[in-house]
Amino acid sequence: MAKKGHVEIIGAGFGGLVTAIGLADRGWTVRVHERRSLLGAEGYGIAIQDNMAHVFSALGILDDILQGGIEIDRRDSLDGNGNLLLRLNTGLGRYRISRHHIISLLSERALAAGVDIHTGSNISSASPEGEIYGSDGKSWRADLIVAADGINSNIRESLNLTKHHIHRKEGGVRVIIPRLPEEVENDRKHGTTMVEAWSGDRRILYCPNSQTDLYVILTCMNKDLSGRVTPIDTESWGQAFPGMTSLINRISECADWDESKWARFQTIRLKSWSNGRIALLGDAAHAMPPYLGQGAGHAMMNGLGLAVSVDECSDIFTALGNWEDRERPLTEHTQFWTGVYGKTIFFPGWLKALAIKTEKHLPLLAKQYSRASKHIPTGCGSVDNRT
Ligand SMILES: Cc1cc2nc3c(=O)[nH]c(=O)nc-3n(C[C@H](O)[C@H](O)[C@H](O)COP(=O)(O)OP(=O)(O)OC[C@H]3O[C@@H](n4cnc5c(N)ncnc54)[C@H](O)[C@@H]3O)c2cc1C
Repeated sequence: MAKKGHVEIIGAGFGGLVTAIGLADRGWTVRVHERRSLLGAEGYGIAIQDNMAHVFSALGILDDILQGGIEIDRRDSLDGNGNLLLRLNTGLGRYRISRHHIISLLSERALAAGVDIHTGSNISSASPEGEIYGSDGKSWRADLIVAADGINSNIRESLNLTKHHIHRKEGGVRVIIPRLPEEVENDRKHGTTMVEAWSGDRRILYCPNSQTDLYVILTCMNKDLSGRVTPIDTESWGQAFPGMTSLINRISECADWDESKWARFQTIRLKSWSNGRIALLGDAAHAMPPYLGQGAGHAMMNGLGLAVSVDECSDIFTALGNWEDRERPLTEHTQFWTGVYGKTIFFPGWLKALAIKTEKHLPLLAKQYSRASKHIPTGCGSVDNRT
């Protein structure tokens, strides 16, 4: 295939790697810079929904991805005492899969497509004319630069592109703990369950991450000092969730507290997703709170969508404009509705229970929450197993 151009990508996360594969498959030479010395992500699980499955399928790696995860049969919403408020035959995500597993398969697929991955390469800035600058003084030129360098993006900050950067009132800490044999057995008999429990202005979500691991995220307000301390304050969490004290004690004993730290959720919107030859995507461009489990989904959809747009149009500047016009409305829809879902945490008890139940009785609301997951991403269906 004739080479169509050269791209330098910053960040070997979900967005950067999918963009790299999409462009390499379409005849570009691709170099990815990853500041970490090893490829990988934290061990936490990630919710994989149908839109993300379409992306993996278009890249030819869906079966391998699913082999490392677990399918979720239903979602139970509880109050702090463990009373069931709502049961839905859907998780917030159809599968839950370890991030390590996904990133390692995406990296393998990128290498097979001819992508050059530089680990230990920290990029500090980029110029809209098409140059990137490493912190070691090196620089590289390209026809296209993709900044997929995550929520604290150096490139975004160096370009002054931020329109809104909202540090939300709430945040969370994620942990992985071993599943108990009786939990595995119970899920085997009755179906795998994601549990989301709400109490006051706190939330606990837990769900199997694999056959052996349980993923848990504890959410509370930034001002809630006993809620956000790590290792967790078992007494304080136990008072908020009296029906879940044994889980809370297990979290305290088994979590890796060097890795698990509480962090505030953020929402980022840019004035534009590109500047000259630089495109920004993923958390660098459109971070969102995690309630609908779609941050990585949009990073990957927008990465593949970018590859399709630059393939469709030989003028890079027009291609970047077309890409933003096509992908941005759905991304901002999800940013808005994940914020709406998350507002439940601020409601008083009676309203919280009502709000949770409305998801079942207001199909229009459920439709907004699931719009991204039902979306067929750009590039899915047209690109097939090209490895
Ligand atoms: C609590 C929580 C739960 C979540 N749950 C889900 C979920 O279930 N489903 C879902 O879809 N999303 C979820 N998300 C969101 C998801 O994690 C992010 O949206 C996703 O990781 C964004 O992917 P990305 O590729 O843009 O950035 P990242 O995954 O952050 O990758 C960025 C990469 O760039 C590298 N990098 C950074 N700076 C530089 C530099 N200067 N030079 C070179 N490399 C650099 C980083 O090391 C990293 O490898 C969750 C987020 C949180 C906080």
